[in-house]
Amino acid sequence: MEVAVQFSPFIRLILLHMGGERASTARLRLAGKICARCGNRLQDPPPTPGERVCSKCKSPGVHRVYMYYILRDCWMCQFLEEDLKTSLPGRLHFKNAEKIRTIVDKVGNFANLQDRQALDYGLEIGRGGVWLQLTDEQYARLKKQVSGS
Ligand SMILES: [Zn+2]
Repeated sequence: MEVAVQFSPFIRLILLHMGGERASTARLRLAGKICARCGNRLQDPPPTPGERVCSKCKSPGVHRVYMYYILRDCWMCQFLEEDLKTSLPGRLHFKNAEKIRTIVDKVGNFANLQDRQALDYGLEIGRGGVWLQLTDEQYARLKKQVSGS
């Protein structure tokens, strides 16, 4: 919880980097008021700012989580639920930034080039975040894993 609050301005900054659409549409999308994929208006009020997809666009068995990474002694990855508020217990530690790239290549959700540039930039400056699409199994593992392991 505390960590999420600490990181949210940065997450918002990253999200704002996704360009290529009209500013007003982008604002609605980033506020979670329209579906990030089809652009349909979402009926229920967004719990918190951040992209969401409608129930039609949500594929069954796919969980959107936000991974943020920061370089300390090694690369530390933590995960947030789609609401960008709830942190998941699972954490990952890597010596090599390439491991993060591998994860993102596998389960990342690159809508456009800006997203990839944001990852490159994040790895360069030592922190950043990226949306991932996880299967039920991968998601369950993050839910279970005890932090610090
Ligand atoms: Zn949709």
